[in-house]
Amino acid sequence: MANKEKACAELGFYSEKHALPEETTEAELLSLIERLNNDDKIHGILVQLPLPKHLDDKTIINNILPSKDVDAFHPTNVGRIMIGDFDFVPCTPAGIMELIHESGVEVSGKECVVIGRSNIVGKPMAMLLLHEHGTVTVCHSRTKDLKAQTRRADILVAAVGIPKFVTGDMVKDGAVVIDVGMDRDENGKLCGDVDFDSVEPVAGAITPVPGGVGPMTIAMLMKNTLTAARRAHEKKQG
Ligand code: NAP
Repeated sequence: MANKEKACAELGFYSEKHALPEETTEAELLSLIERLNNDDKIHGILVQLPLPKHLDDKTIINNILPSKDVDAFHPTNVGRIMIGDFDFVPCTPAGIMELIHESGVEVSGKECVVIGRSNIVGKPMAMLLLHEHGTVTVCHSRTKDLKAQTRRADILVAAVGIPKFVTGDMVKDGAVVIDVGMDRDENGKLCGDVDFDSVEPVAGAITPVPGGVGPMTIAMLMKNTLTAARRAHEKKQG
């Protein structure tokens, strides 16, 4: 949260942090969201997940105005991503696409393999690669012979949550490897889902952890918020 506040301050965005006690009721949280939904000064609302057990993520997210849902978790925004008509993309996949574009990597026609099918990373990632004409395979914990799938990948995205899960023998020569993981190794040190030391010699390009996808996520949150502010302004202008 501190990084997000810092990014807002650096960009000159007005921001409010509401650090609520754990025992906050659903009614109290929904009332705050309603107030922010109706506040013209606020263009983006982000609820830090996971919520305490007595609060239902879905109910809370569904009550954020889709036009202020800068995390793009509301079903309306998820649906818009499916059909390729969207303002916001979940920040982590959006950051990955930005990295791909900035690196001059062409997605069209490439074999893209995404390991992980979560709603916040794997699924939207797969959709974005598909929109850019990649041939996309999504792998998960029930995938048989994962290595056979990953070794076909020109672009491999690892969003598994297991430290150093992807090893050099799972990667095709020259592949672009994107590591979404934010894990802890046996010494408690931050590491990714990719075993950098064994994969880096094989890969054509690879994102490090820390310093790769992570910082892009916050940048994309800021971008989504700016987009939301622009849309609100356009709406006001008619
Ligand atoms: P998640 O919801 O736990 O999803 C993990 C996915 O990995 C699931 O789809 C799971 O399959 C799959 N998986 C687990 N074990 C597997 C195996 N042995 N073989 C193949 N697939 C397997 O995690 P997430 O929220 O997507 O996050 C993934 C990682 O990204 C985590 O390390 C997280 O900390 C990190 N992350 C980083 C950022 C960032 O800003 N850099 C943002 C979000 C997340 P099933 O669906 O079959 O269970």
